[in-house]
Amino acid sequence: MKEIILAKVGEVVLKGLNRKNFEDLLIKNIRRKLHPLGAFEVKASQSTIRITPLDDDIDMDEAAEKVSKVFGVVAYCRACAVEKDMEKIKAAAVEYLSDVLEDARSFKVESKRSDKKFPFGSPEISKIVGSHIADSFPELEVDVHTPEVTVTVEVRDMAAYVHANALPGAGGLPIPSGGRAAILISGGIDSPVAAYMMAKRGVELTAIHFASPPYTSERAEEKVRTLLELVSDYAGRIEMYTVPFTQIQEEIKKNCPEDLFTIIMRRMMMRVSEKIAREHECLALITGESLGQVASQTLGAIACTDETVTMPVFRPLIGMDKKEIVAISEKINTFETSLLPYEDCCTVFTPRHPRTKPKQDMVRRAESSVQWDEMIEQAAKNAKVTVIYPKDSA
Ligand code: ATP
Ligand code: MG
Repeated sequence: MKEIILAKVGEVVLKGLNRKNFEDLLIKNIRRKLHPLGAFEVKASQSTIRITPLDDDIDMDEAAEKVSKVFGVVAYCRACAVEKDMEKIKAAAVEYLSDVLEDARSFKVESKRSDKKFPFGSPEISKIVGSHIADSFPELEVDVHTPEVTVTVEVRDMAAYVHANALPGAGGLPIPSGGRAAILISGGIDSPVAAYMMAKRGVELTAIHFASPPYTSERAEEKVRTLLELVSDYAGRIEMYTVPFTQIQEEIKKNCPEDLFTIIMRRMMMRVSEKIAREHECLALITGESLGQVASQTLGAIACTDETVTMPVFRPLIGMDKKEIVAISEKINTFETSLLPYEDCCTVFTPRHPRTKPKQDMVRRAESSVQWDEMIEQAAKNAKVTVIYPKDSA
């Protein structure tokens, strides 16, 4: 019995004339994701992508796990591929799905026949397979309205496929259909989630991290790399730029009023990030800010930060509560790493009483005694690049 994976394509099918491009990207991403496991054939037919292992010893649990992390797949299931022969289909349904059917209370069978030469129509296939399952599992009830398990039989060109309920996929759109953007990444809980959310909409990520040695340590940077590795399990390869930020922070401390340290620092971060972003063909900046979470994330503070750049700044977490953000970080497995207690440059020189409603002209005046341009230029130029891959793809 040969096992394959069927991946259901989501919004991609709505893309009209672009559909082919989206589908090609999705196929390429699935291939790339599965590559470390062995050889597969990955082919689209209607709104389904059929993933067939070509080697005998491929771990299909791992393959399914990998497919579950590819954006653009709304649902997926493992299926058994059999010859288009009614007896073989019946046997496969009972054998292949025995674990699921043994544990279930109710079921129904749905059939699709795209090979019109197959001698049985869809209702007939469902009836025959359904009564064979009912005979084999006497405890199991038929429920056509709300069955626990829906057994699906698909009779296609090359073979028939039998499977049970599909599982939810990663959703979203295939990368890089959404273009490229730069995520400002810290070691916190929020920014890896923001990165994931934009990648989900098809955005290819470049990461920018500000480090202020000796106030921040090599271990803090290592933590950010680990977080990005976890994000890249969904987002694919990520280039990370680590920006030397010490000089700018020290100048802020020396020359600016304490209650505006954080807001001015964030303005500098934006300016350096925009330079790096432009250089690497990013169309937007992304941050992990959520409205009102801290003083630098009030509407007033955000207006002060954004006026320093012309590029769009996306904050996918802006309307989310911490609890909702944590739920996603647990799902994508970044939560525990984010909790490791290393310092971030944002926590160096934090004001005792940060201003929560800074005014733009007040902030501009407060930073006007320093010539920042050259320092910003140098920080962007001296950023050091590392390439991040998902852990198991090396
Ligand atoms: P996070 O959990 O993402 O650290 P936070 O609630 O701690 O967020 P802040 O420290 O105010 O919030 O940072 C807000 C946003 O600024 C972060 O989500 C991130 O996008 C960016 N940021 C903060 N520190 C850094 C850094 N060292 N390098 C790059 N970006 C940063
Ligand atoms: Mg932070």
